[in-house]
Amino acid sequence: MPLTPDQEAEIADLRSTARPTLRTVSEGAEKHLYTAHPVLDHGFVRLIDYMGDDAAICQAARVSYGKGTKSVQNDEGLIRYLMRHWHSTPFEMCEIKLHVKLPVFVARQWIRHRTANVNEYSARYSILDREFYIPAPDALAAQSVVNNQGRGEALSGAEAERVLRYLTDDAMRAYDHYEEMISQDGQQGLARELARMNLPANIYTQWYWKVDLHNLLHFLRLRADTHAQYEIRVYADAICNIVRDWVPAAYAAFEDYRLGGATLSAKALDCVRRMLAGETVTQETSGMSKGEWREFDGVIGG
Ligand SMILES: Cc1cc2nc3c(=O)[nH]c(=O)nc-3n(C[C@H](O)[C@H](O)[C@H](O)COP(=O)(O)OP(=O)(O)OC[C@H]3O[C@@H](n4cnc5c(N)ncnc54)[C@H](O)[C@@H]3O)c2cc1C
Repeated sequence: MPLTPDQEAEIADLRSTARPTLRTVSEGAEKHLYTAHPVLDHGFVRLIDYMGDDAAICQAARVSYGKGTKSVQNDEGLIRYLMRHWHSTPFEMCEIKLHVKLPVFVARQWIRHRTANVNEYSARYSILDREFYIPAPDALAAQSVVNNQGRGEALSGAEAERVLRYLTDDAMRAYDHYEEMISQDGQQGLARELARMNLPANIYTQWYWKVDLHNLLHFLRLRADTHAQYEIRVYADAICNIVRDWVPAAYAAFEDYRLGGATLSAKALDCVRRMLAGETVTQETSGMSKGEWREFDGVIGG
């Protein structure tokens, strides 16, 4: 249960208080404001605030005095042009602020995206909750045999049961010791900033994360991808759903050119041209390494 009844009530209160504004409003984003979208077993993503919409991207691109929009079709065409040609600054005119609750090991991957503003829950000041990410059985997978940085088949039987028991018992034991160490009941009580070092990386943390649309799309391109670890990918997927509603034209262009598209090297393009001319090109005659060829083959659906 990610939210307490009090927290649910606070969100309902915020959602019931509307104010008139002269600012740009995205109906799609308004639909998400403040609502917690559950992710993993205790996590969530909440849209806290946003600036701009599809029209704001066009307004900036045209450096316009008014709204800067023409027909919807014209705006969509402009957004697709900007995305196709990596003309990225108009996308930086839109911003988003999220409240995210996530396991610490996911936060560690997420924080590598430096082009955002972050404020994290302080475990020096506050006591962390007894909340740990325990994978669902189908996410409890074995080490991949083809990819050192990945996972393969789900664990099964006694091994799966034992692993789940270790993950749960170790987390609970560590938290019991954490609570005991910070307790001031009949003892001085260890400082929270020290006691927390005993806690495992599957404990949940929270942060506010603010980023512009250009850098957000870069984050989503990397983290909604199948190469990203499942536990961060599900957060990226939840954010994709928000962005799709917030800036539908920009998201559609992003889906087309970045998520669904592919970049080909000069060698790969040469192979495509030779194939189109009727030549049978193999890895050996392609000039590409085995790994590169495998990826190229995946892209062209060979
Ligand atoms: C599948 C996957 C596996 C990964 N594996 C590893 C791993 O094994 N080990 C590891 O350490 N990391 C790993 N990473 C993290 C990765 O190397 C990047 O640090 C992370 O994806 C953030 O990307 P970024 O720097 O482009 O993003 P951001 O920090 O958001 O930066 C966005 C862009 O801004 C520019 N920029 C930002 N800061 C600077 C700067 N200081 N100097 C120059 N340009 C800057 C760059 O153009 C950059 O692309 C992995 C990431 C992925 C997606």
